[in-house]
Amino acid sequence: MSEPRDGHRTEGQGLGRDRRLVRDLRALGAGVAPPDLLANVLSRVRLGDAYWTLDTPVGPVFVAYNDGGISAVMRAAAVGDVAGFERAFRERHARPAHPVTRPPAALAHAVERQLGGDRRADLRFDLRGRSDFERAVLLKAREIPPGEVRPYGWIAREIGRPGAVRAVGTALGNNPVPLLIPCHRVVRSDGRVGDYAFGGAAKRAVLAAEGLDPDRLEGLARAGVCYHGSDTTHVYCFPTCAHARRITDRHRVAFRSDEEAAAAGYRPCRVCRPALAS
Ligand SMILES: [Zn+2]
Repeated sequence: MSEPRDGHRTEGQGLGRDRRLVRDLRALGAGVAPPDLLANVLSRVRLGDAYWTLDTPVGPVFVAYNDGGISAVMRAAAVGDVAGFERAFRERHARPAHPVTRPPAALAHAVERQLGGDRRADLRFDLRGRSDFERAVLLKAREIPPGEVRPYGWIAREIGRPGAVRAVGTALGNNPVPLLIPCHRVVRSDGRVGDYAFGGAAKRAVLAAEGLDPDRLEGLARAGVCYHGSDTTHVYCFPTCAHARRITDRHRVAFRSDEEAAAAGYRPCRVCRPALAS
């Protein structure tokens, strides 16, 4: 579908025509029009996004999208019913969102794969309005495998802003698409689970659904353990790294800092990168 040629018409005429277009498109009815038609047209004429409801480990969520990608994920428990979501969406994005009974099959499939822990899921995100820094933080969080966590400081260092730990926390707290951009996999620098865009209890629930034991994480944090190393390979990792989880009890060594690990002759894992390799 081509862009509307509305450069010369008045704003009022354009709006009226757009409303008629939307009315006509909706009148096509479910099952006649392709499921992505409404979202694409709404997005092209800047009239808003489409959304649907999805069940997740933290209850139903509303997922909004346009032809730029996923634009919002909000918990029903936080915004209430569809009217509450539409109000919250309009407040945040200054444009409306319209319900669809089902999203495009490819999009629904990609979302399911992402929620199922498949990092190769081909999902795009509409992160307009976010700063370059916020985008870098959010996209870096996508690199953390399901069932693993990294501290805020890791994101800060990985994106080349090691001093911006607090700003990383703020950017993740404002994640417009929680669950799909997995900000729940980023924890406090002392190892505690910490805050979450959906709240601390929801963060523990999502991590548990990915196979992590939040109580174990908190236990390690209380003990001051930041890293686990293997006394056979002399490599150390974040405790949730897949490589660290393969270390048997007999060969596991705990470290409270990267200095301690380095002093013991251990080098950082190249996969989870607990510190810059020297
Ligand atoms: Zn590792």
